[in-house]
Amino acid sequence: VPGVEQVRIAQTQSRVERTLIAIASGKGGVGKSTVSANLAIALARGGRKVGLVDADIYGPSQPKLMGVEGTKPQAREKTLLPVPTPYDVPILSMGQMVDAGSALAWRGPMAASALGQLVDADWGDRDTILIDLPPGTGDVQLTMVQKHKPAGAVIVCTPQDLALIDARRAIDLFTKTGVPILGIVENMAGYTCPECGAISDPFGRGGAEAAANDLGVPFLGRIPLDIAIRTSSDAGTPPAAGNGAEAEAFVGIAKKVAE
Ligand code: ADP
Repeated sequence: VPGVEQVRIAQTQSRVERTLIAIASGKGGVGKSTVSANLAIALARGGRKVGLVDADIYGPSQPKLMGVEGTKPQAREKTLLPVPTPYDVPILSMGQMVDAGSALAWRGPMAASALGQLVDADWGDRDTILIDLPPGTGDVQLTMVQKHKPAGAVIVCTPQDLALIDARRAIDLFTKTGVPILGIVENMAGYTCPECGAISDPFGRGGAEAAANDLGVPFLGRIPLDIAIRTSSDAGTPPAAGNGAEAEAFVGIAKKVAE
C-alpha cells in the first residue's frame, strides 16, 4: 500500500501532553462512530482541544460524518497533517489513507502501522484525541492498548447489547490491559417520535445502566434512536454541533468523560 508506506511514523513531536481516549464497541452498527463524532464535538464545545482518529478499517465513516468526505490529508516531513473540519475537530481516518475497500484486506501489521501514523500525526495544539476503534477485539484494538496506551475507553452499546458477550469482551480487553473504562454510552435507547418528539422505550429501559452498575463502570448516558441523528449525521452536520436536545445529551456525556 504505497500511501501507507510513504508516510512513516512521526519521530518526536510531543510538545503537548495528549490524552488518548478510545471509543469501542462489542459489535458493529451500534452507533460507535456516530457517538465518537458527536462526543468529539461536544468535548470541543466544552473547551477541550480535540482531534479525532477514525481507526475503523471496516467502515471508516468520520470523513463523511464530519463533513470532509474526499479530502486527503497532507503530510509534512513524512508526518500526516490532520484534516480540519467545520467543528474545530481535525480528523484523520483510515479511509483517507487508501481508497475505500482496500483497507479491509489489510493484514494485522499493516493496520497496526496505519494506526500508528494516524495517532502519531502532527496534532499540533490538540490535547485530547478520540480514537474511533473498529468493533470487536482484533489487531487494531490490541495495538491501541499495548502500544498507544489510551488514558481510558468509552464503550458504546445498544439497550440489548450489554447482556451479550461481545460488549463484555470489549470491556475485558481494556480492563485486562489496565485501561480504565471511562463509562458506557447507551445508544439507540428509546425511540423519538418524529411527529411529536415523545420518547418511547420499545426495548425497555435501564438495562445498560444496570449492566454498568453490575460491571462496576460508570454509566455516561443514553442517546435515543432518532431519525434526525441519522439524517444530520449522513449530511455531515452532527447534532452535537447544533442546539437541540441531542446536543445537550452529548454535552452531558462529554462533561462526564472530561472529569
Ligand atoms: P458503528 O460505528 O457502531 O458501526 P454507526 O455510528 O456507523 O455505527 O451507526 C450505524 C447507523 O446507525 C448509521 O446509519 C447511523 O447514522 C445510525 N445511528 C447511529 N446512532 C443513531 C441514533 N441514536 N439514532 C438514529 N440513528 C443512529
